Amino acid sequence: MTSLNNRVSLMDINLSAEFRSQLESLKRAGRPIISLNVGEPDFNTPEHICQAAIEAIEQGFTKYTPVEGIYELREAICTKFREENNVEYTPADIIVSTGAKQVLANALYAICNEGDEVLIPTPCWGSYPEMVKLIGATPVFVNTEEPGGAVLTADKIKQHITDKTKAIILNNPHNPTGAVYDRELLREIGNLAHEGNFYVISDEVYEYLAYEGEFFSMASISSDIKAKTITVNGLSKAFAMTGWRVGYAAGPKQVIDAMRLIQSYTTSNMNSISQKAAVAALSGSKESVDHMVREFDRRRRFIVQRLQQMQGISCLTPRGAFYIMVNVAAFFGKSYKDCMIRNSMDFSMYILNETNVLMSPGVIFMAPDYVRISYSNSLENLEIAMDRMEKALRLLT
Ligand code: PLP
Repeated sequence: MTSLNNRVSLMDINLSAEFRSQLESLKRAGRPIISLNVGEPDFNTPEHICQAAIEAIEQGFTKYTPVEGIYELREAICTKFREENNVEYTPADIIVSTGAKQVLANALYAICNEGDEVLIPTPCWGSYPEMVKLIGATPVFVNTEEPGGAVLTADKIKQHITDKTKAIILNNPHNPTGAVYDRELLREIGNLAHEGNFYVISDEVYEYLAYEGEFFSMASISSDIKAKTITVNGLSKAFAMTGWRVGYAAGPKQVIDAMRLIQSYTTSNMNSISQKAAVAALSGSKESVDHMVREFDRRRRFIVQRLQQMQGISCLTPRGAFYIMVNVAAFFGKSYKDCMIRNSMDFSMYILNETNVLMSPGVIFMAPDYVRISYSNSLENLEIAMDRMEKALRLLT
């Protein structure tokens, strides 16, 4: 066989994507699966946002746009930063891309050279290390030890800084642990970046989903920190727009210009229709966002209460995003019929086969003793899922 790119062979299989495909075939086969693995809101995209897209199509706004995105959208993003995050940017400091995922990849391509090190606190979203490997840099993991609480400290990060450190990827609020970082911690980490001359890639896609503790945008902490911060955000999570693929970055002009150059040769502009929808999302009423956040919070409280009552399970209360990490290590070594549970993957498979409830094994997030449950599902389904799970756990001996 003609060979492939060497870096592709370094990448781990994308279990989340595999699960998504498997889920589709299980559903097609008629299995009544309750999916608690998905990282997307179960709500519909708000009506006024859809309407803006329909108008864009009707008005023929279906052609190429500037690579960095239409001015109107970049202006709306600046207004959002000013009014909601207390950070000043101009449209020239902004680029919009096909989801926060493309923003992250572009940012890493723009700043990293072969052999550079990128700090990633773990547990982490599974895409970070693989993106870093793909561009030829090296992921350096900073273990936060207790995923449920995500006890990240500046001291732990400091121990991993070397002269090859190019960036740290910080995700706040955090997938998968639900941690929300306070201002002081952000200041300490930002100052490390300023002093050590490396970037902070601040992934803020769960910004609106902070139920306990206040969300602060990294770039708002100080001007020195802002100069080192590439803020990554998007509309997928907050506005239930995962399929529209809207992501954006704000940061030092030199970095944004490099990202624009990369994007100009790879994908060009983000979808024109989604850009119009994004303007409506950012400038319109946030009533539907507030409704979703309240609903997620109700589910969060429900699921924590149910899980904490289950024998053998332990979990801490997440403060943000829509996930909860559940420690299932007490079940390793147990079995039911011919199913033996040795790790979090076996645990997820056992629950899926026994109960038709799908949750993500912690290996995806570098948290091997855990499974991640997404509570982005109706309270009714969550209740059924918890009942079934509780029953299945009692069978294990
Ligand atoms: N960052 C984190 C932490 C995520 O969990 C996700 C999606 O799951 C993304 C970025 C990507 O979001 P988008 O849909 O905008 O590409």
